Amino acid sequence: MTDPRNTDVPAAYAELLERLRAIATLSSASSALAWDQETMMPSAGAALRAEQLATLAKLVHDRATDERLGELITASEAVPALADDEATAANLREVRRDYERAVRLPGALVRELTATTSLSMEAWKAARARSDFAAFAPWLAKVLALTRERAQHLADGGEPYDALLDEYEPGMTAARLEPLFGELRGELTPLIRRAAESPRPPDEAVLRVAVPIARQQEFNREIADRMGFDFAAGRLDTSTHPFCEGIGPGDTRLTTRYRDDGWADALSSTMHEAGHGLYEQGLPKTRFRGQPLASSASFGAHESQSRLWENLVGRSRAFWRWAFPHAVATLGVALARFDEEWIYRASNTVRPTLIRVESDEATYNLHIMLRFDLERALLSGDLPVGDLPAAWNERVREDLKLEVPDDARGCLQDVHWSMGYIGYFPTYTLGNLYAAQLWSAMTAALPNLESQLAAGEFTPLLGWLRENVHRHGRRYPAEELFRRATGQPLRSDALIRYLGNKVEDVYGGGAAV
Ligand code: ZN
Repeated sequence: MTDPRNTDVPAAYAELLERLRAIATLSSASSALAWDQETMMPSAGAALRAEQLATLAKLVHDRATDERLGELITASEAVPALADDEATAANLREVRRDYERAVRLPGALVRELTATTSLSMEAWKAARARSDFAAFAPWLAKVLALTRERAQHLADGGEPYDALLDEYEPGMTAARLEPLFGELRGELTPLIRRAAESPRPPDEAVLRVAVPIARQQEFNREIADRMGFDFAAGRLDTSTHPFCEGIGPGDTRLTTRYRDDGWADALSSTMHEAGHGLYEQGLPKTRFRGQPLASSASFGAHESQSRLWENLVGRSRAFWRWAFPHAVATLGVALARFDEEWIYRASNTVRPTLIRVESDEATYNLHIMLRFDLERALLSGDLPVGDLPAAWNERVREDLKLEVPDDARGCLQDVHWSMGYIGYFPTYTLGNLYAAQLWSAMTAALPNLESQLAAGEFTPLLGWLRENVHRHGRRYPAEELFRRATGQPLRSDALIRYLGNKVEDVYGGGAAV
C-alpha cells in the first residue's frame, strides 16, 4: 500500500524513510541531552541523565535492529526505479551497511560493553589523577576482551582491527594506512629535528597574553560568525572539553574553553569546532532528514573540516593579516606591542610535547602513529596490557626524544581506550591528510584565496567546501568524496609539502645551522 503523502515513492521505501526519521529524532534528543550534560546540567542531575540517555539508546538500538527494517531495506533494494536513482541508491547502500553492522552484534554484548566502558572511564579518570596505571590495567584488559569479541562479530572473518576502524572510517584498512603513515613519519622526523635545532625559534609570549574571558568570548564569536557559522541555527558555549554536537536540522552546538592566562587556545578550539559546525550546517539535513545522505562521510572527513579551519586557515599569515587588528580591537591593547608576523610565527611553533592535545601540527601525527601501532598490538594480544607503559615510553623516547615522567603524561593521557574506541585515533591524521589535499585543490581552484583570507573574506572558501564536500553527505565513501573534490587519491605528499613549507618559512630564512 502506498503512503498517500508519497504517492510516487514505493511503499516499502516510504515506510523505511519514516522509520529512519523516527530513529534520527530519538538520536537528536540524545544529542541535545548530551550537550546539556556538558554545558548546563547541575552535577546532581547526573544519575537521571545517565538513565535518560540509556533509555533513549535502547529505543534507538531496538529500532535500528528491528527485523521490519531489514525487510523494508530488502524490499526497497528490489525496486529498479530506486536503484536507478543515484542518491537513493547511495542511501540504500548506507542504510544496508548500518543495519548489517547493528544486527551482527548480540544485544547482550552491546549492553555489557556499555556498562563496562562507563565504569572503565571512571576508573581511568581516577587512575590518571593518581598516575596509577596498575589501577586501570584490569579495566583496560576487560574493555579489550569485549572489544575483541565485538570486532570478531563485525569482521565476519576479516581483520578484527579493520572492522573497528571501518566504524569510524568506512572502507579504510590498517594495510592502507601503514604505507601512508610510514611515508609521513619518514618526512616528519627530520622536519621536527630541523625546528628543534633552529637558532631562531618563535617567541610564544604573544599567545600567553592574559585577556579577560568576556573579551575572548566576544572575539571567538566574531571569528566563528565571520567564518560563516550560522548563529540563528547554532550556539557557541563553554565546556571542559571543546566539542561540536550536530543535533539536527537548524541546530548545531559548539563549545570552546577559555584560559585567563592566554587567548590563543580558545581561538584554536573555536576555529576547530566551528569547522566541524560548518560541515554540520552544510549537510543536506532537511532534504534527507534522518537518512545517511544527511550525515557526514566519516570521522576523518569531519576532522578534515575542523583542521582545515583551525590550522590551514587559522595558522596562516594571510589570516593574521586580517585578524590581527581585530584581535587588538577586541582582545585589548596588550596585544598591540606585537604584530601579525609575531602571532603567525608563534602559532606555528614546532616542538615535541608529551601530550597529544597540546602538540603542534607536525608532531601531532607522530602521536597518532604511536597509538595506531600500540592499539593494534593490544587488540591482537601481541602487547600484554601490563607491558603498555614500557612500550609507550620507549616509543616516545624514540619518536619524540622525550622521557615520560609518569603514566598520566604517558599511556593514561587519552580517554579513548577506556571507552573501547580502538581504531578511532587514525581518523585524526586522516583528517590532516585530507585537509592538506583539499587545501591544495582549493588554492588551484580559487587563485585569489590568499588575498581573500587577508581581507577576511571566507565566503569563497566556504562555498568551495559546501559545493565539493558538505552537500554530498554520505553519498560517496570518504576516499571517493575527496578524490572527486581534489582529483587525487589519498596520499601523504600534500601534507608533507604543506608542513615542510611551514617549517621552512617559520624556522628558515638562512639562519639554521
Ligand atoms: Zn575534531
